[in-house]
Amino acid sequence: MNKPRILFWHRKDLRIFDNQALIKAYSLSNYITSTYIFDKNYSHDFNANSRAWFLANSLQELGNNWKKMGSRLVIKEGDPLIIIPQLAKIIDAKFVFWNKSIEPYEINRDLEIKNNLKENNIQFIESWDHLLVEPSKIFSGNDKPYSVYGPFYKNLKLKMNLLGSYDQDKVIFQFKDLDNKIKENKAINSSDSVLNKFLKSIKFSGSNICPCRPGENAAETLLENFINEKKIYSYSSARDLPSHNGTSFLSASLRFGTISIRKVWNATLNLNSDFESHENSLSIETWQKELVWREFYQHCLFHFPELEKGPYRKKWDQFPWQNNNKWFQHWSNGETGVPIVDAAMRQLNSTGWMHNRCRMIVASFLVKDLICSWQMGEKKFMETLVDGDLAANNGGWQWSASSGMDPKPLRIFNPYTQAKKFDPICEYIKYWIPELSKVSNADLLNGEISNSEKNNYSSPLVNHNVQQRLFKSLYAEI
Ligand SMILES: Cc1cc2nc3c(=O)[nH]c(=O)nc-3n(C[C@H](O)[C@H](O)[C@H](O)COP(=O)(O)OP(=O)(O)OC[C@H]3O[C@@H](n4cnc5c(N)ncnc54)[C@H](O)[C@@H]3O)c2cc1C
Repeated sequence: MNKPRILFWHRKDLRIFDNQALIKAYSLSNYITSTYIFDKNYSHDFNANSRAWFLANSLQELGNNWKKMGSRLVIKEGDPLIIIPQLAKIIDAKFVFWNKSIEPYEINRDLEIKNNLKENNIQFIESWDHLLVEPSKIFSGNDKPYSVYGPFYKNLKLKMNLLGSYDQDKVIFQFKDLDNKIKENKAINSSDSVLNKFLKSIKFSGSNICPCRPGENAAETLLENFINEKKIYSYSSARDLPSHNGTSFLSASLRFGTISIRKVWNATLNLNSDFESHENSLSIETWQKELVWREFYQHCLFHFPELEKGPYRKKWDQFPWQNNNKWFQHWSNGETGVPIVDAAMRQLNSTGWMHNRCRMIVASFLVKDLICSWQMGEKKFMETLVDGDLAANNGGWQWSASSGMDPKPLRIFNPYTQAKKFDPICEYIKYWIPELSKVSNADLLNGEISNSEKNNYSSPLVNHNVQQRLFKSLYAEI
C-alpha cells in the first residue's frame, strides 16, 4: 500500500528535531510536506519588530533544513481556516499533524479547522510538544488546576524525577517531496516570495544586539554555552545581576520552539551527577524552577483563559488606575528620571530583550509608582519583546501588579533599593545611560543627580515614597 501524504503544520515548534507531532507523523509516513502560516487574524508571533526578525530568520533556517532532508516548508500568509484545508487538498494529504497550543485564540481556531478538515475527509492528529507535562496530567490534590506556583513546582518536579532522563530521538529524517506537477502549483511555489516579502518588511536587525538567537542551531549553541561555560552552576547568584550575562537567553527559542523544552530540562538532569558544591546544585535547581515558571503560566492560561482579558483577582477590576498617558510615554521611552528603570527600558527598546530582574523593577514602577494599569505595560512588552509570549508576559505582569496568582497580597519594589542590591557599581545603568557615566555611583543609586551633572537626563517624574503611600491608599479602597 502507498504511504499517505502528510501535511505538517509548524506553529510554535520551529524545529525538526525532537518535535512530538513530527515524530508521530514520521512513524506513519515519510511523505511529509510542512507549512507555516502568517495568521492574519492573530499576529502575536510577528507583531513586534524583534519577534518578526526572530521568526523570519528561524523560518529561513527551518526551510533549508526541510530541503536538506528531502522535502519543503511551504510558507503562506492569510487565514489558516482556509489555507490548511486548501493546502491539504492541493498536496493530496490524507493527514494533517500539528502540536497543540494553550492560547485561547489558537485553541478556538484549531477547533474550527478540525471541523473544516472533517468535512473534507482529511484526518488530523495533534500532540503536546510545548510543555513538559500536558495540562490534563497535572492537578492539585482536589483535582483542580493549580493556581499557586509552589505546589505546582513540587508536583511537576516529582513527575519529572519519575520520568528521569530521556533518550533524545536520533532519527535521521529522509522525507519525500511532492510530485513535480504539484510543485508547480502557485499556492506551493509562491512560498519563497511570501518569506522574502516578510523579510524585507522587518525594521529590526538583532544580529549584533539581541542576546536571543533565531534558529534551531543557535538554540542548541545557547544551551551548550550556558552549560559548558558553567553559567548554570552560578545561576542562583548571577541571574539577578543585569550587568552579567548570567542567564541562558533561551526565552525566544523556547517561545518559538526552536528548541524543545524536554531537551532543555534533560540538560539539567545530566548535570546532577557532576555537581561539586551546594552553590552548584542550588543553581541547577533554581534554573529548573525558572523553567517551571514558564510551564506554570502556560498551564494557568490554558485552564483560566480569562487571564488574557483581565485580572485573576477580580477586585482589581475596581482599581482606580490613573493611566497618565504622558507618564506612560516617559516610562516607555526610558525617561522617568529613575536610572535603573530608564536603563532597563532602553535595553528593551534597543535590543528587544530585557533582564528578568529589570522586568520586575520596571513593571512594579509602572503599576505601583506611576499608577498605570498593568495592561498598558503588558501591551508595550508584547509590542517590543523578542520573547513576547502571551502566557509568560501576562503572568509576569499580573505577578508584578499583585492581580495574579501570587499569594502575596501586595508587592511593591523600591527601584532605588533594587538598584543598590543588583547593580551596586552601576555598570548596567552607565552602559544604558551613557550621559550619566560621570555621575558618582552613590548619586545614581539614590537618584540624586545634580542639575550640573544631568546632561539633559530627565528629573524624576514622581517621588517613590509619595506614590507608594498613594497607591496603598487606593488599594485599601478595593
Ligand atoms: C513583567 C514580566 C514580563 C515577562 N514577559 C515574558 C515574556 O513575554 N516571555 C518570556 O519568555 N518571559 C517573560 N518573562 C519572564 C522572564 O523575564 C524571561 O523569561 C527571562 O528574562 C528570559 O531570559 P533567559 O532566557 O535568559 O532566562 P533564564 O533565566 O535562563 O531562564 C530560563 C527560561 O525559563 C523561563 N523563565 C525564566 N523566568 C521566567 C519567569 N519569571 N516566567 C516565565 N518563564 C520564565 C524562560 O523560558 C527562560 O528562557 C517576563 C517577566 C516579567 C517580570
